[in-house]
Amino acid sequence: MRLQLRIPQVNPGVYYEPEVCPAAGCGARRFKSHQQQGRPKRLLDLQEDSVIARRLRCVRCGRSFRVYPQGVSRSRQSCALKTLSITLYILGLSYREVTDRVEALGCALGKTTVYDNVQAAGKRAQELRVGWQQTRHGSMGATATDVTTRQDRSRSLVISVTASEGGVEISSELPDDADAPVTKGWLRGLAEALGRGVSISVE
Ligand SMILES: [Zn+2]
Repeated sequence: MRLQLRIPQVNPGVYYEPEVCPAAGCGARRFKSHQQQGRPKRLLDLQEDSVIARRLRCVRCGRSFRVYPQGVSRSRQSCALKTLSITLYILGLSYREVTDRVEALGCALGKTTVYDNVQAAGKRAQELRVGWQQTRHGSMGATATDVTTRQDRSRSLVISVTASEGGVEISSELPDDADAPVTKGWLRGLAEALGRGVSISVE
């Protein structure tokens, strides 16, 4: 069995304007561009070093605010990188191992940041990790590797991570003989915890 997750990458050309003005009580739905050009924003991501943040002004209350491309928030990390770090943790890697793996992909993400990401994903992420480890009978560690690296598969679950055009792909070969290691409920929980845009499949 093969577990596969696909996390969409940052889309630098697509911006979503908010539906209503973020100022409390304003409720306006029309905005004007506040700057001609927008400003570069440095980004921690597997693909993009920086994106352009645009500034909009509400036509009613005059408040201005920033909008970012799809997959980018106020955070320094892209949504894809955040999701990747949380997923690797849920699949059994330690905070240190997540940091090492992401660094091997060219992104310096501190252990504390990974911890903060997992905490923000909340109790659900911790429960999913425990559930995952229990279905694996607690006997297996996890190793994240890129697809070119050979690992001893006897004791650890090998998780491969590849960044390509269109997104980040995480996949892992699950032993067929294990008694239903991936339950539908667990997968549903994982999909909920990771949010929209992440596709999960088991083949
Ligand atoms: Zn307003």
